[in-house]
Amino acid sequence: MDTPTPTTTDIDKLRVNGERLWASLMELAQIGATPKGGVCRLALTDLDRQGRDLVTRWAREAGMGVTIDKIGNGFMRRAGRNNQLPPIMTGSHIDTQPTGGKFDGNYGVLAGIEVVRTLNAHGIETEAPIEVAFWTNEEGSRFVPVMMGSGVFAKAFTLEHAYAATDTEGRTVRGELERIGYIGEQEPGEHPIGAYFETHIEQGPVLEDNDKTIGVVSGVLGIRWYDCTVTGMEAHAGPTPMALRKDALQVASQLMQEVVACAQRHRPHGRGTVGMVQVHPNSRNVIPGRVKFSIDLRNATCADCDSMDQDIRAVAARLSAETGLPICIDLVSSYPAQCFHSDCVDAVRRAAAKLGYPHMPVVSGAGHDAVYMARLAPAGMVFIPCKDGISHNEIEDAKPEHITAGCNVLLHAMLERARVVC
Ligand SMILES: [Zn+2]
Repeated sequence: MDTPTPTTTDIDKLRVNGERLWASLMELAQIGATPKGGVCRLALTDLDRQGRDLVTRWAREAGMGVTIDKIGNGFMRRAGRNNQLPPIMTGSHIDTQPTGGKFDGNYGVLAGIEVVRTLNAHGIETEAPIEVAFWTNEEGSRFVPVMMGSGVFAKAFTLEHAYAATDTEGRTVRGELERIGYIGEQEPGEHPIGAYFETHIEQGPVLEDNDKTIGVVSGVLGIRWYDCTVTGMEAHAGPTPMALRKDALQVASQLMQEVVACAQRHRPHGRGTVGMVQVHPNSRNVIPGRVKFSIDLRNATCADCDSMDQDIRAVAARLSAETGLPICIDLVSSYPAQCFHSDCVDAVRRAAAKLGYPHMPVVSGAGHDAVYMARLAPAGMVFIPCKDGISHNEIEDAKPEHITAGCNVLLHAMLERARVVC
């Protein structure tokens, strides 16, 4: 081979081919393209198979070996000089929401392929192998739970549990994996990882609002979901004087206000949302006898989540004592906050600084496959802005220069970990 051995200066000057990456994103977005410019490529459908076929074809063309595990996760591997070392991995997902966009997930997978194409084009060898993963059913739209492939891989739940999940037509994950030909031999999780990076659109407005190109993601917010029920007494809206009512909605609405107030006290990462309200009997001239509503609390550490939980429960207890109306708060699910590994967070920050991109630390309010990988190996994420912070929507959009910048950061963060052979 005539390619001269790269020097450290050559490596510092290395950049991905943004046009090639953009063209691949647009080509993959044709599979399941919607009239409004989005993508509908639900997990384990025929369209998902076509997407997987295209991505694995690109990987093979880039000289990568492809393995599939029993939950259909794909691992595309570029050999290193020392293949005994655990691979430096990147990846994301290529399934979408029913009204999804072109970038959510797809960007993370294709950015990984672009890293490999760039290394190939410059004849650069790494000490550790490099792998690009696509994780099955991240979105959780057709099959629950979300982040299914990475969750099975990280042993957050069992393969049998995932296999048994059904869609609304009664089809199972196992059956659909077999049908599309993506049920592999490898036991999920029996696949060492040296470090894991994931590039993703931010899916929120913070980077755009701060005019930054790169978000250095320090971690992912913990989530607590509750069902809350306030029980009063239905009565006629006319004959019942105000002092003699048991109006469940009036009490519930005070607690709903506290959900937002509590999040505002827990700055900067506290989030509080009431997104679902059911009023019984929901009739114009009847005092509401029962109100059931959801509470979604998020924060950056488990201690902060606990503190918000205590605030809400204390206000509920006070309101119940003052009004005599029972208030029941049930925790229905909980995801712990996940801090990313300082080595990976620092690698992302150093790469962004070296490349001269405006960057800032951010937390992720949404779950990602990287959350489960962080339980297995040092992990970190790179965020780029998306237009108006909009995602899970066909109008989801990102600027080509931001797509390129995020991939350049990924390249240099991965090279720092995988060590270039100079
Ligand atoms: Zn995603």
